Amino acid sequence: MASDTIEPVDAQPDAARHGQPTVDVPALTALLDGRYAEVRQLVRKNLVDYASILTDAETLDRSAFRDRVRQVVLEMAATGQTGMGFPKEYGGGGDVGASFAAFETLAFGDLSVLVKVGVQFGLFGGAILQLGTERHHEKYLEDLVTGRLMGCFAMTETGHGSNVQALGTVATYDAAAGEFVISTTGPDANKDYIGNAAEHGELAVVFAQLEVAGEAHGVHAFVVPIRTRAESGASRPAPGVRIEDDGLKMGLNGVDNGRLWFDGVRVPREALLNRFADVSEDGTYSSPIDNPNRRFFTMLGTLIQGRVCVGGAGINASKVALAIAVRYALKRRQFEATSPDQEELLLDYGQHQRRLLPLLAQTYALHFAQEVVAGHAHGVFSGEVGDDEAGQKFRRELESRAAGTKALGTWHATRTIQECREACGGAGYLAENRFAALKADTDVFTTFEGDNTVLLQLVAKGLLTDYSSEFEELDQLGMVRFVASLAVETVIERTSVHKLFERVRDLLPGGDQWDQEAGVLDSDYQLAMLRWREEHILAGVARRLKRGIEAGMNPGEVFSRVQDHVIHAARAHVERLVLEAFVEKVRAMPDDDGHDNKVALGLLCNLHALSLIEADRAWFMEHGRLTVMRSKEISRRIGSLCRRVRPLARELVDAFGVPEEMLRSKELVG
Ligand SMILES: Cc1cc2nc3c(=O)[nH]c(=O)nc-3n(C[C@H](O)[C@H](O)[C@H](O)COP(=O)(O)OP(=O)(O)OC[C@H]3O[C@@H](n4cnc5c(N)ncnc54)[C@H](O)[C@@H]3O)c2cc1C
Repeated sequence: MASDTIEPVDAQPDAARHGQPTVDVPALTALLDGRYAEVRQLVRKNLVDYASILTDAETLDRSAFRDRVRQVVLEMAATGQTGMGFPKEYGGGGDVGASFAAFETLAFGDLSVLVKVGVQFGLFGGAILQLGTERHHEKYLEDLVTGRLMGCFAMTETGHGSNVQALGTVATYDAAAGEFVISTTGPDANKDYIGNAAEHGELAVVFAQLEVAGEAHGVHAFVVPIRTRAESGASRPAPGVRIEDDGLKMGLNGVDNGRLWFDGVRVPREALLNRFADVSEDGTYSSPIDNPNRRFFTMLGTLIQGRVCVGGAGINASKVALAIAVRYALKRRQFEATSPDQEELLLDYGQHQRRLLPLLAQTYALHFAQEVVAGHAHGVFSGEVGDDEAGQKFRRELESRAAGTKALGTWHATRTIQECREACGGAGYLAENRFAALKADTDVFTTFEGDNTVLLQLVAKGLLTDYSSEFEELDQLGMVRFVASLAVETVIERTSVHKLFERVRDLLPGGDQWDQEAGVLDSDYQLAMLRWREEHILAGVARRLKRGIEAGMNPGEVFSRVQDHVIHAARAHVERLVLEAFVEKVRAMPDDDGHDNKVALGLLCNLHALSLIEADRAWFMEHGRLTVMRSKEISRRIGSLCRRVRPLARELVDAFGVPEEMLRSKELVG
């Protein structure tokens, strides 16, 4: 066995000394908070100071709640919490990584506040910062960072959400006037679901098809005034702009989402956010990136911070749900099971452990995977990653990782919150116990900042083309043709997972029989299983694409038929990355630092890994990698790991550091 393997916890030489491990909560919180502990503490304090917003969400009417959310956002902005990612010269904190940590932590509280912060500072502010140049920064950033200037990110239309390249809003350059004319061109081309549009936004970054002298140049972004505000505070739509409220939503009703129509709205030439393309006064279009597809994806690539944030927010919302459900399960008794004198605690039931503890383990895994994504994104956006070929590949890998972690993190939130609600029985259904808001508000995390299913297709495209720059501009059909043109072995050999699989397999005993010989609690075995699965599904996708094209089928139809395998490949890839992040984190912890946290996280890591294999055991068995005996052994081990984690459950949720005020009901959590 490799020296850096997390040893099978059951067989650890010092298991006797440890017996049942205990958790040092402050040390574990410090590990989870990482390098941004101070930032997270500031946000926790702000959450406590504004804890009354949780009640306001239930008692105020929609309009008053929107105003209250706006007020809380502005007051939080004044503490510096929301501007950490902006340059210092405009009043920001100059630290992108800090802005991720702040946003994630904010997800412990009311999620309308979180999303309003995301719209104002992440989406609107992020677009001005990333797509604009100095003239836009000088004009807007300072007011934007304080919240004096509120704005929108107006990309989605009623007709098009995921397919941004097909937007129907048009910006035509009028050279005589030196202006762009923004128009909504059809019945479904109005902007829709746009945060800050219905009431508070004065400006919008509008994504529109640029036309110069009759030539189309694809989607570009423009700063467009949508609302004028009088001294008295009264506001009305800017000339040529029509605004409609999206109305009551399933959740997030403290955010004013709305629809926007533009009827020949004129904005100056300088309104084009011109980092990646410009139009000169006489109407000459220029861009440092020749290929329109590449230009489009480069532009979108600068906007992934929102995706990183939403993934982290989903993971942290899961922590709130788990903290409540675990604490309730340590207080609530139901039925006499082991003693006639006393009813049993819920968490002492095997099924209750099975429901909650693998989700707890997965939350830890996703937390560490998110830490990797946020760290890479910090590197890219603070200029630590170069612009050479290696740097560009790193960026493309980051885009894929951010997309995949967002998808898994937000699906995890939906599933975990539901399971935790049920685990709290009727008490979980009362609004005061938070699940109503958690469920309703996080539901859409799976859709905005990129629909999860669409995002996983992006991940698969990266895998199939190995993130090479030459394929960046390929659309889906181009990608299908490219993959079909290669031998299946070539597709696989190009991927990094192939090399990783070979390497990790060599660490295991048993040669070709590695899947029979290695211990199921050996992390190298677990990683080998996930890498083998990823490689195998990917090869299956390549084979099917090839077969379809060779049979003369239309590339679009071939892709559509293979799509379930494509999604499975992407999911397998991201699950492998998540497990790797967890394993690496545990391996890097010192062995003897005076507490058992490494042992405790080792248990969780095993629980997570085996739960992943168990969840896809039908597939592993279908493909000959899991015998019936081993499959049963894995299920047995999960049961015994749950029993070992059970005494640590309270400490493990306490270590998340969710403020007591955010758990709200003393009755429920004790
Ligand atoms: C509360 C809320 C706030 C929002 N805020 C903003 C905002 O501030 N600014 C903004 O610009 N937008 C915003 N949005 C819009 C959001 O980003 C879009 O809803 C999202 O991108 C999905 O687009 P869509 O709704 O058109 O869904 P669609 O793209 O139509 O997707 C519908 C379904 O079809 C599936 N699907 C789509 N394409 C494919 C495919 N190729 N293969 C297989 N399945 C596919 C998807 O998986 C999904 O399940 C917001 C949305 C909501 C609900």
